[in-house]
Amino acid sequence: MLPMIQSLHAEDTYSLQRQEMILAIERMVADTRDYTGRASLAPEVMAAMARVPRHEFIPEERRTYAYENRPLPIGSGQTISQPYIVALMTDLAGVNRDSVVLEVGTGSGYQAAVLAELAGQVYTIEIIEELGRNAAKLLQRLGYNNVTVRIGDGYHGWPEQGPFDAILVTAAPEKIPEPLLEQLAPGGRLIIPVGGRYDVQSLQVVEKDRSGRLHTKPVLPVGFVPLTGDH
Ligand code: SAM
Repeated sequence: MLPMIQSLHAEDTYSLQRQEMILAIERMVADTRDYTGRASLAPEVMAAMARVPRHEFIPEERRTYAYENRPLPIGSGQTISQPYIVALMTDLAGVNRDSVVLEVGTGSGYQAAVLAELAGQVYTIEIIEELGRNAAKLLQRLGYNNVTVRIGDGYHGWPEQGPFDAILVTAAPEKIPEPLLEQLAPGGRLIIPVGGRYDVQSLQVVEKDRSGRLHTKPVLPVGFVPLTGDH
């Protein structure tokens, strides 16, 4: 009996902490509106953030911090992104149930889970095998059947599954990878941090219009881990 009571208590605590996280994201969205042009994010994005159990994506020894609005280490020298950034990138992607989405940089699988709450299909690529395998197992256990994980270099995208209505890149290249631009559907959006390891990077939105022309807009200064690989 006792273990069950304890686990119910932990879930209640996480759920309260998740509500606090939502408030923290809302505050930060308001504070950064001069950069992003957004005083609030889409209600469906915030609802998705309120549903996904972020603690499941955090190594056990750091779960106390799971709902703080900050990035956390996930092993292999990598991080799970700050909840505010996950919410903002998801909002910028503007996906719905008809959308096919590519994520480069699966990491813990958290951003993929948030996308899977909103999109039809999510394809996600991770270059570190152990992270990719763990994320795939976790996403399956949590019932995210519309996510497919591949181990590989996401610089090249996933041409067999494209074109994509949205592409989110969660590691920073110095220059936007050409294959990702090619795999963007007309009307699609690429959300990507751009800049070197020691620079302040710029989160950018690249929109491909119906005639295939690209329109790039910087949104916010950010700090992501570098996009690695031998491309
Ligand atoms: N989206 C992740 C999450 O929700 O936990 C956070 C991603 S972490 C900030 C960036 C991830 O990108 C790391 O797991 C890293 O190994 C991965 N990565 C870096 N370069 C990559 C590449 N060329 N292809 C695929 N993944 C890459």
